[in-house]
Amino acid sequence: MSFTHAHQTAMAQQRNRGRCLHYENGGRCDAIISAHSIQKGGQLNLIVEQGHVYQLSADLTMLKSTGGKPQLKKVGINKVSTFRGMCKHHDNRLFAPIDDRPLAFDHEQIALYAYRSICREYFVKENAARSLAAMIDHPDVPQANRQLLVDSAQGQAFGFQHLHRHKLIYDAAISEGNFAEFRFIVFRSSSPCSVQDSGLLFPDYDFLGRKLQDLGPETKALDLLTFFTAPTQDGWAYVLAWHESSDQSCQWVRESMQEGFNRGAKLEDMLMRLSLACENHAIRISWWDGLLPSAQGAGFAALSVGTDPRVVTPPDYLAHGCEGLADWTFDYVQDGAAI
Ligand SMILES: [Zn+2]
Repeated sequence: MSFTHAHQTAMAQQRNRGRCLHYENGGRCDAIISAHSIQKGGQLNLIVEQGHVYQLSADLTMLKSTGGKPQLKKVGINKVSTFRGMCKHHDNRLFAPIDDRPLAFDHEQIALYAYRSICREYFVKENAARSLAAMIDHPDVPQANRQLLVDSAQGQAFGFQHLHRHKLIYDAAISEGNFAEFRFIVFRSSSPCSVQDSGLLFPDYDFLGRKLQDLGPETKALDLLTFFTAPTQDGWAYVLAWHESSDQSCQWVRESMQEGFNRGAKLEDMLMRLSLACENHAIRISWWDGLLPSAQGAGFAALSVGTDPRVVTPPDYLAHGCEGLADWTFDYVQDGAAI
């Protein structure tokens, strides 16, 4: 078996190894389902064309063949954003408030969307760490790829360890119904939207390019920000959300948006940069294909952030770029983050 084939097989084995990440997982979790982390009915159906959307393809073996440049690939709607990280019983029960009702100004709904983002990332990061660790020892790994795999495995293990701490915080808050511990900003829209996402990041720089946290291995605890698109009664919304234990960095993120806005930056551009830097997204094919080459270049620059462990993240990746790219507009903002 070739290295590339072995790598793809290892990744697929991990993806298919379902398990329930619900905080009460145990003996009753017998039917693992493939769930959408970006809602299919609510959001993906708004952008699907002939059953497909675009998604970033940044697989390490692909990076090698494209000279380190990520590419967009067409993905069937039933595969986009799905993960086998929850059993049917727990998924149906826990997520009913967001699967059955449009998003309102509701702390419980926000907490559940954020929790689903975390569970999906937890599932993916754990899979990646395991399959990379298995691949490093494959006899056919070319020497040039080995160091990239080692660096990637270390990065994934580091991210997973921090994510694990946050998952425990979310598990505790949600199982005890402490939804008031969640902060959020809701950007409401009635316009089209050609990018959907459900993601998270450890905020390293804010929307003005100022450093917030050092993501180096010596850092003990990192703050975590989640973000997602969601259907509302009269349109859709883009939401930033976090647990109060991540207030320190996330309040800076919030203030930098306000300050950037006051200085003339557009919310639409800021949220586009954030969306493209998140790898769990879905993009409308005709919108992307209709962009000018210069706009696609700006989009690819945003998409590339964080995909290659050998490339240092530019401090201003949320402060500049993608101006005028977005087709969405926001009608008004609801602030659920004031303290
Ligand atoms: Zn379960």
